[in-house]
Amino acid sequence: MDLNTITDVVRRPPDRPGSEWRDGDAWLAGGTWLFSDQQPHLRRLVDLTTLGWEPLVRSDAGLEIGATCTIRDLYAFAPPDDWRAGSLFGTSCEAFLASFKIWNSATVGGNICMSLPAGPMITMTVALEATYTLWAVDGSERTVDAADFVTGNHENVLAPGEVLRRIDIPVTALRKRHTHRRFTLTHLGRSTLFMIGTRTPGTDDLLLTITAGTTRPIRLAFDAAPDAEALQQSIDAIPADEWFDDPNGTPDHRRHLAKHFAEEIRTEFAAGDR
Ligand SMILES: Cc1cc2nc3c(=O)[nH]c(=O)nc-3n(C[C@H](O)[C@H](O)[C@H](O)COP(=O)(O)OP(=O)(O)OC[C@H]3O[C@@H](n4cnc5c(N)ncnc54)[C@H](O)[C@@H]3O)c2cc1C
Repeated sequence: MDLNTITDVVRRPPDRPGSEWRDGDAWLAGGTWLFSDQQPHLRRLVDLTTLGWEPLVRSDAGLEIGATCTIRDLYAFAPPDDWRAGSLFGTSCEAFLASFKIWNSATVGGNICMSLPAGPMITMTVALEATYTLWAVDGSERTVDAADFVTGNHENVLAPGEVLRRIDIPVTALRKRHTHRRFTLTHLGRSTLFMIGTRTPGTDDLLLTITAGTTRPIRLAFDAAPDAEALQQSIDAIPADEWFDDPNGTPDHRRHLAKHFAEEIRTEFAAGDR
């Protein structure tokens, strides 16, 4: 839609964007959300996509994803064979309720910064133990654990003018065994719950990431495989107000799904190699 309060678009910001940040500005990435709704508080859009950030950089340390990498480019990326969890890139891209336009324009960073419960790039990066590099308006930089970035529905730790520059996924997480479960009300619908489990090869640890069903990502870590009761109790311990309530599912329904899927994941890992 037309954003009729916007009076200026900065097509080519400085290499270190933020120095010219002012009230009424918004970073523009794919624009799929920015242009989908009224933005009466905004006066200026600052385009990040012209900065030429490398979308995907593979190294011995893992994968660096530039925040402006599109969902389309991530989907097309072919991970090396020993990155067992690399198939989660495609799985997570497919978890978008996305039209052709969104698929081609939306960015990984835009999805994370939107911080919606059903943000599949959040699910993927939390499950893969990523860190995010943030650039502040004063030129300083900080790194946050993906699990700590989203604090609620459409809420995160970004300060005004702070920009998400890149996402780093460690190779240790990419080599893990993994499985996932997702529930949607309709075939291509928005996730009611999206859960990923990972396990370090040669161990029986378990990292369980719960998203979409909760207002922020919840990661449950077990050094050794929990028994069924311990796993159920860890989900029961999630505070009642953290379960998300919207037309895609009530908090009770989402808690029920989480307990059901968690047990399936536990038994799937117990059953053998994957
Ligand atoms: C029909 C439709 C379906 C959708 N389905 C889903 C869905 O299933 N799941 C979902 O999560 N979302 C969904 N969305 C919302 C949105 O399109 C996606 O979250 C998308 O990934 C946003 O990415 P973008 O690059 O287009 O962000 P933009 O629209 O450009 O920006 C989104 C927000 O993030 C900020 N931002 C962008 N990049 C950065 C950065 N690097 N640093 C700091 N701030 C930044 C912007 O200022 C803005 O506030 C949907 C939207 C529509 C219209």
